[in-house]
Amino acid sequence: MIDKILYTKDGKKFSVRDSAKDYHCQFGVVKAEDLRKSKAITNTNKEFSVIDPSFIDQHEKIQRSAQVIPLKDIGTIITKTGIGKNSKIVDAGAGSGSLSLMLANITKQVTTYEIREDFYKLVKKNIEKLGLKNISIKNKDITKGIDEKNVDLITLDLPSPWDAIEPAKKALKSGGFVVSYSPTIPQVMDFVAAIKKEDEFLYLETIEIIERQWEINERKVRPRSQQIGHSGFLSFVRKIK
Ligand code: SAH
Repeated sequence: MIDKILYTKDGKKFSVRDSAKDYHCQFGVVKAEDLRKSKAITNTNKEFSVIDPSFIDQHEKIQRSAQVIPLKDIGTIITKTGIGKNSKIVDAGAGSGSLSLMLANITKQVTTYEIREDFYKLVKKNIEKLGLKNISIKNKDITKGIDEKNVDLITLDLPSPWDAIEPAKKALKSGGFVVSYSPTIPQVMDFVAAIKKEDEFLYLETIEIIERQWEINERKVRPRSQQIGHSGFLSFVRKIK
């Protein structure tokens, strides 16, 4: 868990894990007593704003394993499916839990499936670190079955999402969504072809979210030269029976 966040005037961010101790960084030392104030000056005279961390600061610091889904894509999953405080979600594979933790922060219940034991253990730790009580993880293969029923959304970030269609059918409520995230087009083609054979499912759309970051520095205003490249395609499906 992060205790405090420090920001320099130009936006450099530092996360303090234990604010009972002095904090050391490239700009020198901040005394523990100053971490309780809203401004802190280091021994080398660098000024920091001190704030309490919020969910996103904690989430940023989770331990990573597999490639995570970027925030730009998570935002679109949330808004296009309209999930919220009453929603029940199933997710696979958990990876580092980046997506499932984000979803747990705004929904009622999340269950995430992870086939690899080492990743399962890591996500368990990440769940504990964030202190979320409405998320559980299962060390199971999602293609072998989903125990949950009446689910509002199933998110799939797996090499072969088409293998999870059959279990998804049984777990989803009528009107519920499947969102599959795949980095490559052959995966999208096979998933969409499999979905189109199903009477219970309606294929909605496949999209790619492009985020462009800009540099705003007086009159030097232009897209940043280093950008997030390709992440994945999002395919949206709805259960209609
Ligand atoms: N969305 C995750 C990243 C998932 S990476 C995040 O945001 O952190 C894909 C994960 O799926 C890997 O950890 C892999 O072990 C897991 N996986 C692959 N096939 C699976 C299956 N059939 N059931 C459950 N997990 C699976």
